[in-house]
Amino acid sequence: MGERIGILGGTFDPVHVGHLVAAVNARHDLGLDWVVMMVANVPWQKTGLRTVSPAEDRLAMVEAAVEGVPGVEASRLEIDRGGPSYTADTVSEMAGLHPSAELFVIVGWDVVAELGTWERIDEVRDVATLVVVNRPGNQPPDGLRRRGWRLEEVTVPNLEISSTDLRGRAATGRPLEYLVPAPVIRVIRERGLYSVGG
Ligand code: ATP
Ligand code: MG
Repeated sequence: MGERIGILGGTFDPVHVGHLVAAVNARHDLGLDWVVMMVANVPWQKTGLRTVSPAEDRLAMVEAAVEGVPGVEASRLEIDRGGPSYTADTVSEMAGLHPSAELFVIVGWDVVAELGTWERIDEVRDVATLVVVNRPGNQPPDGLRRRGWRLEEVTVPNLEISSTDLRGRAATGRPLEYLVPAPVIRVIRERGLYSVGG
């Protein structure tokens, strides 16, 4: 039987406990062999709206976050591919690298609401099962199965944590502790990200 691989895509600017809780619970609940935290190269839906930290810095934070976490790893696939990061390209590349694997694309409720704007969404739907994770401030998904998705739902404790809030905290010197893993805070300080420690 092939491997079961989860893909949790994100900007991870910075990665936080909400991302990691989603990753480990999806892995556990669905019996995934591993979950890949896929760091977006150019998050095309975010560029222009705000400054996005360099991809290598975001990758370094994710690598620090998953160090020692079994079955969760950071991937630089989208960074190496370059250009805008489309999930359709990522699942196709992952399917090529792991031909017998079953792929699961993990998203929070907020992202479900934006699925209609994804590039070549039908290609994602053909290849992967969608895994939706609850996130406060958003509606539960509706009508996905009707629209042809293979769907799994994973429930986690509601964590009202966002990278947007954390960037604001960092910039104003408020604590990141316990919202962001300690090794990630070290990377933020060492690299002087979000105008702290640098
Ligand atoms: P930003 O505020 O910059 O958009 P974010 O906190 O939403 O950052 P992203 O990198 O945009 O983080 O999210 C990556 C993925 O993780 C998305 O699928 C998102 O829904 C999910 N996610 C982020 N935070 C949470 C959370 N607190 N609970 C559940 N899922 C989350
Ligand atoms: Mg987001």
